[in-house]
Amino acid sequence: MSEPRTTTGLYFDGRSARAHAVRLRLGERLEIAGETARLDWSLLDLRAAETAPPLARIGHAEHPGSVEFEDAAFAEALAARCPDLRRTRGGTGLPRLVLWSVAAGVSVLLTAIYGVPAAANLLAPLVPPSLEARLGQAVDTQIVGLLGDPPLCEAPEARAVLDRLVGRLAETMALSPPPQVSVRRHATANALALPGTRVIILSDIITKAESADEFAGILAHEFGHVAARDPVRSVIRAGGTSFLLSLVLGDLTGSTVLVAVGQAAIAAGYSREAERAADRAAVAGVDRAGGDGRALAAILERITEKHDETPGGLTGFLRSHPYTAERAAAIRATPGDKTDAPPLLSEADWRTLRGICGSKDGKTPG
Ligand SMILES: [Zn+2]
Repeated sequence: MSEPRTTTGLYFDGRSARAHAVRLRLGERLEIAGETARLDWSLLDLRAAETAPPLARIGHAEHPGSVEFEDAAFAEALAARCPDLRRTRGGTGLPRLVLWSVAAGVSVLLTAIYGVPAAANLLAPLVPPSLEARLGQAVDTQIVGLLGDPPLCEAPEARAVLDRLVGRLAETMALSPPPQVSVRRHATANALALPGTRVIILSDIITKAESADEFAGILAHEFGHVAARDPVRSVIRAGGTSFLLSLVLGDLTGSTVLVAVGQAAIAAGYSREAERAADRAAVAGVDRAGGDGRALAAILERITEKHDETPGGLTGFLRSHPYTAERAAAIRATPGDKTDAPPLLSEADWRTLRGICGSKDGKTPG
């Protein structure tokens, strides 16, 4: 047996985005030791994620954690000693893997020729739903972590009203199945569309909504992004193409790229065209569902006036959905598409929905 090798790296526990500085020692086993982490992994269980050298990322077959380091000699020694290092986690089939490796290669080329946004546009429609669902799950976990693990709001009666509203809007906006909408208690007025047809609503936007139609407008605006697959595009843009490849290879937890992707999902805005398209889809969707789609303009203006952004904050609605006065004007100028459908929500239902975080008025305590 050759001499043990050591190097330094970062350990991610797979649950939080935090990086822990560690020393790695490769002997009979891989020892990971730092102030906050101490692990000892069998070489048979190590799995490598696809990364761009010199960065190497090593996970464990049955453990969510992973380590990253940039020592090429250490990586080589590891590869020589670990028989299953390149075996993928989770049984991704080989043909698909090859297909996606090709796609990732092509995407690197596209990126070089057209730049990242164009490559993201070309790639987004090719992402298979199962992969997008996994991506959505990972980004959701990441964002919830970045927001400080705000609790889910699930008061049962309010949840039932929300589910009805979601179902109705999904129907009028031709989204099937309906997006998965979660509400989290948070003192920022924001709503986020994620890959895998997920939407996160932060409770303060419910507090700031003065009518069911205003809230429905926000929800439908997010559905508009979902329908246009804007979140996938934005994630590809933020993560780059190597990120896609690591996604295919099955190792996402603890990836530093995922942190960037999570931040981008919260803070990076969509393009003005994407915003306008989501607004148009929202107005039409809310109208057809029996509400007043133009109420969206009122809540957008209210949020702008109050400068709800905390300085340097990541989470405001207007950061993720760049606002211009022109947007409100365009929303108001959209011709009515009102049907004789019953009102979107009764006053009583709207009051119930506002209590989804457990308090009657929907305010976020503290
Ligand atoms: Zn938007």
